[in-house]
Formats: sequence, C-alpha cells, structure tokens
Amino acid sequence: IRKAMVAGNWKMNGSLELVKQMSDAINNVKSKKIDVVLFPPFPLVSALIASGVSTGTQTISEYKPGAFTGEVDAQLVKDLGAEYVLVGHSERRSIYNESNSTVAEKFSRAQQVGLTPILCVGESESEQENGKTELVVAAQIDAVIEKLGVAALKDSVIAYEPVWAIGTGKTASPEQAQNVHKFIRDKIAALDSDLAQGLTILYGGSVNEKNSELLFAQTDIDGGLIGGASLKADSFSAICESA
Ligand code: 13P
Repeated sequence: IRKAMVAGNWKMNGSLELVKQMSDAINNVKSKKIDVVLFPPFPLVSALIASGVSTGTQTISEYKPGAFTGEVDAQLVKDLGAEYVLVGHSERRSIYNESNSTVAEKFSRAQQVGLTPILCVGESESEQENGKTELVVAAQIDAVIEKLGVAALKDSVIAYEPVWAIGTGKTASPEQAQNVHKFIRDKIAALDSDLAQGLTILYGGSVNEKNSELLFAQTDIDGGLIGGASLKADSFSAICESA
C-alpha cells in the first residue's frame, strides 16, 4: 500500500513569518497516515527544518561542488537535513531551459547524496490540445529511465502537473488526472510491476481545499503537489486532512 503525500511548493514566496505559521499548522495536522513536505526557497530551509517540518528544495545543481556561482549543491542540502528535492518543475523547464537530460542529471545527483527526487512531469496547453499528453509525459520519464535504469524510480516520487493547470485555477478533472496517472503507472509496470505498484504519484495544478478530496480519492493519485494553496495555513491544513 502506498503512503499518501501532500507537498507544498512555495516557489519564490515565503518568509520567516510564514515558516512559523505553516509549521504550527502542519504540526497540528491530525492525519498521521500521510507525509507532509514543504519546499521553501533555499534561505528558509534551515528554519523550516528546525521547526520540525519535513523539507525539500525546489531544485539543486546537477554538478558536484565547484565554480558554479549562484548554484546550490545537493550534498549541502542533504547535510542541512532536507529529505527531498523537486526536479524538472515546469517553471524550471520553461523559464530556465532545463532539458529532459539536465533533469535526469539532477535526479541522479539527488540520489547520489541520498535525497529523494520528486520528478515533475506534465504537458503544456498546446500539447494537451494536440493530444500529445502521453507522448510528452512518457519522454520526460524515459529520460530518467534511459540514464539510470527503471530501478532508480524506486526511491523517488513522480508529480504529474499539467502546465495548463498550474496557477490558472483550471484544475484537471479527477478522471482526466486519474487517466494520466494510470498511464504513468502502467508504463512503469511494463518494466517493473512491483516498483510501479509502490510508486507514489502526486497530482499538481490548482489543487485547493475544495477539489483535493475528489482528486486524492482516485486509485492512482497518491496525494498532491500544491503551489498557491501551500502559502495559506488554513487551506494547506485542510488539503492535508483530505488526503
Ligand atoms: P498551483 O497549485 O499554484 O497551481 O501550483 C502548482 C505547482 O506548480 C506546484 O509545484
């Protein structure tokens, strides 16, 4: 049986004050059946960990330490006590030109130091309109499988986030999301069925406290990756309780 996870991606938002508010809220979440993880900007990582919240970062460098001004090494993140890292978020792919192959390198570097990568995948609006969803998502996952082998997915999480649903208020319907989640699980099951059954697959894209319960009730949806609603203590707690 897969453990549910609710993850909050703060993107370039947040403050020490928000760390306090959100850690109070999360430490009061009653459901202990789920993993709750927050992804704050780098400067807030230590404060969030100190407040007792399970923490990850929004990206890492694909390289080992060296002359890479402005970048952050995965080992340092791990040493500070973080447990997870997002790789391949659509904003990293589109704004910072991260390719499938760079994302695969980041995935690899995360596992090298013992961080659990959360591989973000998802199609754009035009790809969706042109019926390319499965093609795009498969290529994003295959980049990791080709580099590292399917076994690498064992210690990872996948987050399906259709780009057209991110920050738009336009969420995928539960059926629409379930179909893509099932496609992902079946695709991986064709290579390793036990691994696929144990793999946590999150949905992200305009999840809020009103739509989370139905989304999370789908067979292949094991929780959510929450953007905007992870900045509001009441909304985020309610989403956690619905998982
Ligand atoms: P929203 O929940 O704001 O749509 O963002 C989703 C997301 O990108 C989480 O990584």
